[in-house]
Amino acid sequence: MYNLHLTPEQREIRETVRDFVQREIRPIALERDRLENFDERFPWEVLDKASQMGLRTLALSEELGGTGADNLTSCIVTEELAVGDVGISATLGQTSALAHAWFDRLMNAEQRARFLPQFLADDRFHLATAGHEPDTDLGWSYHRPPAPGAGYKTTAVRDSNGDWVINGVKNFITSAPIAKLIAVHVRTGTKKSETGGVTSLLVPHPAPGLTIREHDKVGRRLGSNGELVFQDCRVPGANLLGEEGKSHWAVPNMGRRMPRFQAMNLGIGRAAYEAALEYAKLRVQGGRPIIEHQSVGLALAEMAIRLEMARNMIWQVAWASDHPQAYADGSLPDLPLQIIAKVFTSETVQQVVLDAAQIFGGMGVMRELPMQKYVRDALIFLHSESTNSVARLKIAEALAGYRRAGSMAGE
Ligand SMILES: Cc1cc2nc3c(=O)[nH]c(=O)nc-3n(C[C@H](O)[C@H](O)[C@H](O)COP(=O)(O)OP(=O)(O)OC[C@H]3O[C@@H](n4cnc5c(N)ncnc54)[C@H](O)[C@@H]3O)c2cc1C
Repeated sequence: MYNLHLTPEQREIRETVRDFVQREIRPIALERDRLENFDERFPWEVLDKASQMGLRTLALSEELGGTGADNLTSCIVTEELAVGDVGISATLGQTSALAHAWFDRLMNAEQRARFLPQFLADDRFHLATAGHEPDTDLGWSYHRPPAPGAGYKTTAVRDSNGDWVINGVKNFITSAPIAKLIAVHVRTGTKKSETGGVTSLLVPHPAPGLTIREHDKVGRRLGSNGELVFQDCRVPGANLLGEEGKSHWAVPNMGRRMPRFQAMNLGIGRAAYEAALEYAKLRVQGGRPIIEHQSVGLALAEMAIRLEMARNMIWQVAWASDHPQAYADGSLPDLPLQIIAKVFTSETVQQVVLDAAQIFGGMGVMRELPMQKYVRDALIFLHSESTNSVARLKIAEALAGYRRAGSMAGE
């Protein structure tokens, strides 16, 4: 099976990032989280330093100027960053993953020549991918092909110069308020999309005809999410990412996503657990540190068990996305392991943060301590990617042997 003996490079980068988190993220995260104003809250100075350390370009290949980290290494770094703050982890992890997907795999030579130099030169060049829309039925239906007529409503049509003209609204999009390049998923046909009819277009930001509004969330507040409104937004015909009618997630092997979100989620759980462990050694009740009371010890043990199980699942999925042949040759079951890890991690971390807050007693709800932040941050993971009910339905479909068009083993 897979090898858990981390390489010297993996151990070194983990230590480097841990140290960065202690020095640069921990001291500011809680205070920033409380600020209402986005421009004051957003941690640009930390992201700049992280970019200079190579964390923004971690997964981009070395040939193109990145570090060329594999999925397991990226998950290790993502977890460490999220122990400090999940919003910072989300911004860096997304840009790094999309940089690999786009620059290494999907862009043609002309696009790479046009966008890569700016991306590499600018520490504040972040990336986003915009699919979700406020009022769109994506048509996913248990044990059924997509509902007829469902699909994205955002459209792009070519004008007489060959430019794309985009109209529509996207929302909730991670990093939209700060991204300088966004892959926008649109419908290019005249009919509402059949499945597979989604096209990805590269939209630089700012662009005439595109306005972006920041969403105010309860958690992951040092990251950013936004709504994009396209009103006759024009981009060159050459900004098609990949093929028309094939969104960039539909490209083989791109759909079997590495468990980046789960690694972030795990980082929150670990931060809460480590804080609770430390507090339990300090807080005295009944004449002894509360960790010596069995009920507190058992609660901590339960947290450690849950987090270790989550990490094992995450590392397995990360390793498998680095070694897709493990699905093909039957070493791994033909199950959607990433979705399984998503459901388990989001629910287990939700429990861990609540249990950790309990160990703090009244202090667990005081804003001067980060426990309440961890609870809010963890909640985000029950509401993003797909909801856990839909994720469970996808697992159930796989168990029943129901295969959707275009899906692969392990998806
Ligand atoms: C913090 C955050 C970041 C995000 N980042 C991005 C991003 O970068 N890019 C992007 O494109 N999107 C992004 N999203 C969107 C995210 O993918 C969706 O919010 C998520 O998939 C849920 O979709 P929804 O909000 O439309 O909920 P809905 O699909 O409307 O779900 C509402 C309820 O109905 C249930 N339900 C829905 N469909 C079914 C069904 N077929 N069968 C049974 N029950 C069903 C759900 O379980 C849920 O309880 C982000 C969302 C959040 C919260």
